[in-house]
Amino acid sequence: MSTSRARARRLARRLSALYPEAACELVHSSDLELLVATMLSAQCTDAMVNRVTPALFRRFRRPSDYYGAPLEELELAIRPTGFYHTKARHIRAACQALDERYGGRVPSAMEELLTLPGVARKTAHCVRGNWFGLPAITVDTHVGRLSRRLGLSAHQDPTRVEADLRALLPEAEWTAFSHRLIQHGRRVCHARKPDCPRCPLARTCPSAGGFRK
Ligand code: SF4
Repeated sequence: MSTSRARARRLARRLSALYPEAACELVHSSDLELLVATMLSAQCTDAMVNRVTPALFRRFRRPSDYYGAPLEELELAIRPTGFYHTKARHIRAACQALDERYGGRVPSAMEELLTLPGVARKTAHCVRGNWFGLPAITVDTHVGRLSRRLGLSAHQDPTRVEADLRALLPEAEWTAFSHRLIQHGRRVCHARKPDCPRCPLARTCPSAGGFRK
């Protein structure tokens, strides 16, 4: 089966019909909150992050709240999300960089976001796509896995998966397509046991019944 742009667009249309409302599930009301929530979502479910952030965001409202508070207080507040020592250090350092270099605001440019400690492409894309409304393909574990299974990419490296998807789809599709793949990964195309018999994409999926990781 060819990985043509026409086929990728057909898949995008199908996913759009299946998941018309798919969007970022991290609850946030500001650019800073989205940045922090996304950093917390590494190796953690969005649901768990959403359980932690209401109290966190009430206590930590500005970048200086994060790096001005004792490290242990922040660690305790985010502990349920896992890897909390590293996450707390990164969040504090990123917030300090926001104040020192970006006037306390989260920048929208990719190259600026990537200068923030603990911020890699996935986090940067999440912020760009969901706060700034810029075209962004967020390659998390679901997007990587489904891209391979659906024959849209042969790569394991998220940066190369991102490049493949960028080449196959128009910019206007990027952000929503990522969200829809994530939805399909959560609901149907599970990592260990994809539900191919009940999958609406099975007829066009090269992995149906013999999936790839
Ligand atoms: S047919 Fe199976 S492998 Fe392909 S997208 Fe559906 S659930 Fe995933």
